Amino acid sequence: MNESGELERLYQVQQLDLELDRLSHQEGEIAGELKEARAQQERINNDLEDAEITLESVERQIRRLELDLATSQDQIARNKSEQDKNATNAKLQSQYENVIQQLGERVSDYEEALAPLYERQAALQERARELRTEHRSLRPTLGSLEDADEARVQQLRADGQERRERRRELAAKLEARLVKEYELIRKSKKGIGIVSFEGGRCKGCNVILPTNVQQRAALGRLPAVKCPSCGRFLIKLSE
Ligand SMILES: [Zn+2]
Repeated sequence: MNESGELERLYQVQQLDLELDRLSHQEGEIAGELKEARAQQERINNDLEDAEITLESVERQIRRLELDLATSQDQIARNKSEQDKNATNAKLQSQYENVIQQLGERVSDYEEALAPLYERQAALQERARELRTEHRSLRPTLGSLEDADEARVQQLRADGQERRERRRELAAKLEARLVKEYELIRKSKKGIGIVSFEGGRCKGCNVILPTNVQQRAALGRLPAVKCPSCGRFLIKLSE
């Protein structure tokens, strides 16, 4: 293997690195349709949770008021039976009458307070039912979109795996120090560690290379010549 072969091989390593970058970038590109369906389901879940929390608090209020209402109704019944037992005592009769009337007013208050709460309860139950139906009907669509996305990601990973293996094989044949330096340059130079030059210009930074640099780089020897401006390895590609 000659030295210019080294640089060409390194250039192929970079081709694979760039493809791997592209593949991992694509992994994050979820289809708009799936994003929308996920967002819709999340919205439904949130709305359902809100409806259920509100419903719980409304039902707590209802139970409290119903308990108070039942207590007052019991008291009315007790007072009425006491009133009946003392049917001959006019003074007691009017006392019972007053108590029963007050209790009756309290009962009406409770009933008045309960009426809108029952309406609210029914509306919230209906809303929760609707949301559950909506959630159920979205599930198959979302499921098939998720499956398709999973398959897409698996394919990208398989493609990546295949390229990683090729890269490993190629890199193993190269000088470890050269690969290491290439990786460092690539890291600091937007993913490009080795560039060609054309018409005397570095294709990495577009600067015009000094003639002696062009000549040395064209030989393709190691240690590899770097662009004096951007610091990337230079390779003369046969066109
Ligand atoms: Zn350059």
